[in-house]
Amino acid sequence: MFGYPFQRICSQLLGDEHITQWYAACDQGKYLPQHVSSYCPRCGASIGKQAVTPKGCAFCIHQKIGWQHIVRVSSYTPPISDWILSLKFKRAWRWGNMLGQLLIPHLAALEIDNKQVAVCSVPMHWYRRWERGFNQAHLIAGTVGKHFNWPVVPLLHRSRYTPPQTRVIPSQRPVNVSRSVASKKIDLKDWTVVLVDDVKTSGATLNNCCKELKAMGCNHIIAAVIAVADLKNNNFKTVVPTGR
Ligand SMILES: [Zn+2]
Repeated sequence: MFGYPFQRICSQLLGDEHITQWYAACDQGKYLPQHVSSYCPRCGASIGKQAVTPKGCAFCIHQKIGWQHIVRVSSYTPPISDWILSLKFKRAWRWGNMLGQLLIPHLAALEIDNKQVAVCSVPMHWYRRWERGFNQAHLIAGTVGKHFNWPVVPLLHRSRYTPPQTRVIPSQRPVNVSRSVASKKIDLKDWTVVLVDDVKTSGATLNNCCKELKAMGCNHIIAAVIAVADLKNNNFKTVVPTGR
């Protein structure tokens, strides 16, 4: 699964600290589901095992959440946060695949009992994709879909440009992304959709996507993200200098 001997040797020779860290983490199984710290399966916040209730945790119990379950690899902390920044802002495309591989065991652990599963990435406005050159969530989704043999389908698109969520105060984030995502005329009845993103901050963008997926008839959505910026640690403020 992590067989990139050439890349591994190159990273060591070139002193690429992040890639060397990634290999070490994989060798140690550091991000396998059984080794990551516990989190709320409803909102993804880091919490103790005893703090989860059937209705969520203290952070989300009063929140409306569009997905049925969330999986994450880690909270938004180093070295995962460094790897995500490498993907987004250093044009290191390979991180799309490497981060996606960390997500695979977490989705496998869910044992999704549905033959009709589609993968969809959180869409990016064409202007931002042109600026960045790619949609990092789509790269991650591609790795996930390829592994499970699930189709990766562009079910959603951005209907308008919005300022990055990280530049908007938390209370205004739902308004900022409101009606910024549009769906296509596809019937998703009886389908499970795995909605992939790199980072969940307030969850407003993911919720907006879920709203459109539900409008297409989907009633089972799994949010799959690499990292969750925990509100209790306030680390969502440092997610990126210029986010999605
Ligand atoms: Zn929660």
